[in-house]
This record gives sequence, structure tokens and C-alpha cells, in this order.
Amino acid sequence: MGSAESQNRYLNPSMAEFGTTIFAEMSALAVRTGAVNLGQGFPDTDGPPEVSAAAIEAIRAGHNQYPPGQGIQPLREAIARHRRRFRGQVFDPEAEVLVTAGATEAIAASLLALCRAGDEVITFEPYYDSYAASIAMAGATRRVVTLQAPDYTFDPDDLAAAFTSNTRMVLLNSPHNPTGKVFDAAELAQIAELCVEHDVLVVSDEVYEHLVYGVEHIPIATLPGMSDRTVTVSSAGKIFSFTGWKIGWACGSAELIAAVRTTKQFLTYVSGGPFQHAVAVGLDLEDDFFDGYTTAMQSKRDRLCAGLTDAGFDVMIPDGTYFVTVDIASVGADDGIEFCLSLPERCGVVAVPTQVFYDDVEAGRRLVRFAFCKRDEVLDEAGRRLAAIVERSGR
Ligand code: PMP
Ligand code: GLN
Repeated sequence: MGSAESQNRYLNPSMAEFGTTIFAEMSALAVRTGAVNLGQGFPDTDGPPEVSAAAIEAIRAGHNQYPPGQGIQPLREAIARHRRRFRGQVFDPEAEVLVTAGATEAIAASLLALCRAGDEVITFEPYYDSYAASIAMAGATRRVVTLQAPDYTFDPDDLAAAFTSNTRMVLLNSPHNPTGKVFDAAELAQIAELCVEHDVLVVSDEVYEHLVYGVEHIPIATLPGMSDRTVTVSSAGKIFSFTGWKIGWACGSAELIAAVRTTKQFLTYVSGGPFQHAVAVGLDLEDDFFDGYTTAMQSKRDRLCAGLTDAGFDVMIPDGTYFVTVDIASVGADDGIEFCLSLPERCGVVAVPTQVFYDDVEAGRRLVRFAFCKRDEVLDEAGRRLAAIVERSGR
């Protein structure tokens, strides 16, 4: 996928493997074919009205010029309060919190700030696509540890073997996109111990921190020896279902955040002034909002998983995020890319082949991701359409 761009003679060769992102590609396919889009992960309803009202109010109140480089103070304070309320972590809003243009910028700025050319960055595959691109832009090398379907566990020996004298960072994502895995205490402890032993940093992408279903989200920064070596990243896009606002943040020790701020200021400098005011309001919403969001998304998970199971798919029920993966072998297919490219025409549904997030393509060949952050009627319609093709293929 993205092969046309890959052959572009002007493109920096270190970026040649990165064409158009799969999300843009699959959303364009959905628009072109009028299919139900369970590909790109964005909700099809707005987030809390008091938060969007606060954005409109901020524009009316004239908060329309550059905000301060580190983010507006009320938002940094709200981020620190949110982190303390839900995770028990304490960050100084003056020095240990940085507002970014989405989690994407927080991750890119962290890699650019903290890695030197030739450093190695360990990440788990399937990995979120911007990780590989940001590692490449930083001139670093990725080393991947595979999460093995169907339960997406990893071999502890694989992880230990991935650490070398060049390892600079682990780029961790829990709850994990695209698998929906939530790393448990024992897994996080192993990662943390190796990081301490090898003196390695962590960037912990926790954008789905509020989407865990019956399990606990544990920030790796709270483990022994980790608080001073971890940059924790989150995003209002995921917490409040305003993915287009692109307000994210990074929290960590003053020294780490000062380093990340150095690169961030030359990427976007600042962004989303009025939206920063709105997100500050959102982060202080009552527990009811956060609990209700989790419960609503859990019921959508159950709804889509039931629909996919009824349609004949082998479903890997996720503990977190708003994504579910299936093995398409159960419906007689064996290549996720072919399957996803033909799906809109066959039945009017768009999904994402998770194969594109693996270096070990074989490990992900038959895995396909569906997003369930959609209205119930949309999820039901997708289930009906998928069942119809499986029936037609006589399985
Ligand atoms: N990390 C993960 C795991 C994601 O799924 C996403 C996509 N939303 C991001 C980061 C990017 O977040 P943002 O839109 O805030 O840049
Ligand atoms: N995070 C979203 C997903 O995984 C997509 C965001 C994007 O398109 N960059 O589907």
C-alpha cells in the first residue's frame, strides 16, 4: 500500500517505506464506495456538548492568537489534576506537562528529542503506524517484538533479546492499537525491569487510557524506577471523541519534558488555542462522564463482537481501545490486504488489514481490524452486511 509514493524520487529514502497512511487510504475507499467505515478509528458522534460549547465560547472570547509554547496554564493544570485523579501520578503543571498537537506530535517530538542517529527503539508489533515513521524521522532504528495472536502475548525471551547496547527507548502503547490488548502488571514489570537494567527511556502512549473493560490500565511510569525515565502521552481526541481537534500532551520529569519541548517548538510551535480551553473544561468533568464513556464503548464492543461472531469470524475480544481484530481464515480468506480491498465492493464495509503494522508480515497476514466507536445502527448494519457475504461464499 502507498507504493506510488514509495517510488517518489524526491522523497528522503529513509521515508521510502511510508506511503499514504492506511487510515487515509481506507477512509478514502469508504467515501468512494459509500461503504460503512469501520476502518479509521474516529467516533461518528460528537463528544460532550459542554466541551464543544467551551470551544465556541473560547473563540468568542478572543482566545485566537498563539497560546504559550508549553500550552495554556489552565489546561496544564487540568492535565495534572486528571493524571492525579485517575492514575495517582503527580506532575508539576509548570515544568512536567507539555501540550502538543495530538499524541502524534508528542510521540514524534519525543523521538526527535531523545534519540540520536543509530539508536534503537523497541516497539511491539503490530505497531501504530506513526511509530515507525517517527523512529525513521529521528534517524533511529526500530526493533520489534511480536504480539502473538490470538491472545497477543509476547515471548519474554524475545523482549529480553531485543535489548542491546544501542537501545535507547521502548515505545509502548497500552491499551494497544490495533489489537485492543491491555498490558498486565507482570508484562509491564518485565518491560520496566529491562529498562532499568539497560538504562533505557520509555515513551508510553496511553491515548486509550479510559477505554479498558474489566481490567486495569497501569501507567508504566508508576512502576519502580520508571517515573524519571518515562514520557507519558495521552490525547483529548480519544478521551472526548474530538479527534479533529488534535490536542494531546506529554507528562514526565522536568528534564525529559524540557527536551521534548525543544523539538516540539520547531514542529508546530503551538496549536489549537481555543480547543485547549475546551479540553481544560473537559478534563474536570465528573466521574460520571468518564464512567459513562467506558460503559458505552464496552457495550459497542460487545455489540460488534457479537455481530462479527454471528457472521462467522474468529473474534479476538479486546480488553481495551475501540478496536477489535478478527482472523479471516474462519471465513475462508487468507490475506488481510486483499480481503479489505475487496470488502467494500463485496458488501459495503471498510476495515483495516493489520498486516500493514507488522514487520513480520506472516504474523499479521490474516488479521483484520474493525473500529466499534460508531453508532449502534451502524455496527448492526456492518454485522448484517458481513454475514451476507459469508453466507454467499457458502461457509
Ligand atoms: N497513538 C495511538 C495508539 C493512536 O491510535 C492514535 C490515533 N488516534 C494516536 C496515537 C494519535 O493521536 P492524536 O490523534 O491525538 O494525534
Ligand atoms: N488512530 C486512528 C486509528 O488507528 C487513526 C488516526 C489517523 O488516521 N492517523 O484508526
